[in-house]
Amino acid sequence: MPHIATLPLLLKQLKLSTMARHWEALLPQAREKGWNGAEYLAVLCEQELAERYSRRIARYAKESQLPAGKSLATFDFTQIPDVLQGQIEALAGTGDWTRQTRNLLLFGPSGVGKTHLAVAIGHALVEQGVRVRCFATTALVQQLQLAREQLRLEDALQKLDKYRVVILDDFGYVKKSEQETQVLFELIAHRYETGSLIVTSNQPFAEWDRIFPDQMMTVAAVDRLIHHASIIEIGGDSYRRKEALRQAAGHPTSTTSAPATTTLAGPPPPIHDSGPRQPPPT
Ligand code: ADP
Ligand code: MG
Repeated sequence: MPHIATLPLLLKQLKLSTMARHWEALLPQAREKGWNGAEYLAVLCEQELAERYSRRIARYAKESQLPAGKSLATFDFTQIPDVLQGQIEALAGTGDWTRQTRNLLLFGPSGVGKTHLAVAIGHALVEQGVRVRCFATTALVQQLQLAREQLRLEDALQKLDKYRVVILDDFGYVKKSEQETQVLFELIAHRYETGSLIVTSNQPFAEWDRIFPDQMMTVAAVDRLIHHASIIEIGGDSYRRKEALRQAAGHPTSTTSAPATTTLAGPPPPIHDSGPRQPPPT
């Protein structure tokens, strides 16, 4: 007969911490339900796996640096066309496009919800076990710039490889020095076919030659970004301004009538694949 007394120790050595915590409490239930040894073991293993999974998701959520509260459920989809809602829910509903290292580009004027949507899609992907990291583009550029000065840019770029999705919020918002632009370009080149980028920008491609110092670099960067990319353009007025006007007029804050779900029924959205593309309208 094996010694049950050693079981906690064995489980600990095997790093089966959930089993170690639950095996004893599960015994009466097993007896009551008439489980045989294999059934009891199967239930314990399921618990171990389920807990590992939820711990992993919690870890991914923390490391993602995604701001809380910006989810699909808190996004008022009445503000944007239905077709965009479908596209966004599809992107949030499956991480398949990230496995294919596709990119997502969100364009539109300030305040229309680009950051909110990028973050919401990020949260939805994390819940599906996708590792995501969200950056203000300028902050990441500064970080990479510093790494380059210390001759460890390649290292810094490789560190990002563990994230299947890197969000670059407000791409091109701040005028950069030539050196900063260079690291931005290297980042795009590095991510190309190694991982996905979600980029938000209020500058359409036509103005990207203001971001990069020369035409060649602009074309090369845009080429890499739009090769296998979904491009979503959000028009309209700033949501912030609309809210302020509504409140000033004495109307309550608008709420989403039906909370949007992060699950999807339909196929993934159409992907604009490669090739030169008309710049989105300003
Ligand atoms: P952008 O990145 O396009 O400048 P943000 O995503 O930062 O805009 O949106 C500005 C503010 O308005 C944020 O607080 C955001 O949560 C909110 N917001 C924008 N659009 C919507 C929307 N359709 N539903 C709910 N909140 C929105
Ligand atoms: Mg923004």
